[in-house]
Amino acid sequence: MKKLTGKISRKRRNDLSFMFVPHRKGNIKTFRIANYRTTLLAVTAILLVALLAITGYTLSLARENNLLKAQHDLEIQALLEEKAKLEDYIASQTNELIENASLISAAATTKTISEKSVEQYKAEYEEMVLTYVDNNMSTIKSVSRGSSKEKSFKEALSDLRSLINLVQSAKLSEDTTNDKISKKESELTSYLDSLPTYWPVDNATTIHSAFGRRLHPVYKRYSHHDGIDIGNKRYTNIYAAGDGKVVEATRVGGYGNYIMIDHGNGFCTVYAHLSSYDVKVGDWVKKGQKIAKMGNTGTSTSTHLHFEIRINNVPINPVLYLEKR
Ligand SMILES: [Zn+2]
Repeated sequence: MKKLTGKISRKRRNDLSFMFVPHRKGNIKTFRIANYRTTLLAVTAILLVALLAITGYTLSLARENNLLKAQHDLEIQALLEEKAKLEDYIASQTNELIENASLISAAATTKTISEKSVEQYKAEYEEMVLTYVDNNMSTIKSVSRGSSKEKSFKEALSDLRSLINLVQSAKLSEDTTNDKISKKESELTSYLDSLPTYWPVDNATTIHSAFGRRLHPVYKRYSHHDGIDIGNKRYTNIYAAGDGKVVEATRVGGYGNYIMIDHGNGFCTVYAHLSSYDVKVGDWVKKGQKIAKMGNTGTSTSTHLHFEIRINNVPINPVLYLEKR
């Protein structure tokens, strides 16, 4: 019995009683929670579970948030890296541009300098060639006009041709409009072409009457023969001895039909006793151009060409000037 009582009282001690005592008149009310520890434990357990659940949820949210943040950070990091790369690229491109610009500028400067030098050397070279040519030309011109010896003029002619060859090989370009040496070449060639050197009759280098004092075939007295007589068949072609301008083309007593050509530099040539002529006063003729036909007009005893070369209107011996061909 005692044992049973003990068991009951132990059970009762496990209960929890709440007593409500009213201030005013009334009955005291007692609430008893049987086995309160168990109840307390259960409630605590429920609360703990709830707490755990809330904490877990909160933690998961936070973790998710952290993950997103980390992802975001990574994206930003990647973007920043891209930006840095772009900036580097732009910087390198800019540097390259600056470097190229300075290279181009340097090249342009070098070009300007070298162009200047080339122009300067060209001018000096031209000056040198022209001085050389002019010095030689003055000698050639004086010999051409003043020589009384065949050798001297022919030597001057040979020197002139050498000089023209020299000038041709000294030319810097084929552009004749802007090249001083080319202009000089034209000048020398014109001078050479104007010199009366072309034998005025084909295949007839024999002189029937020479230059100088002779017994005149018609007047039968000694006088000066101002030219040379070249005989051939009637109507044989006659050619200009050099480039020049026709200053006479007419008929006079002694000469008969005759032509005079002015070659410049004091030189003139005369072609007399012509049967006819193809040119008129004022015509420009080229060396070797056919200008007339041989005849027997004027004071003449047979068909021949009377040919003169005059320097400053003074007749000189044509054989000193004409070249056999
Ligand atoms: Zn004559």
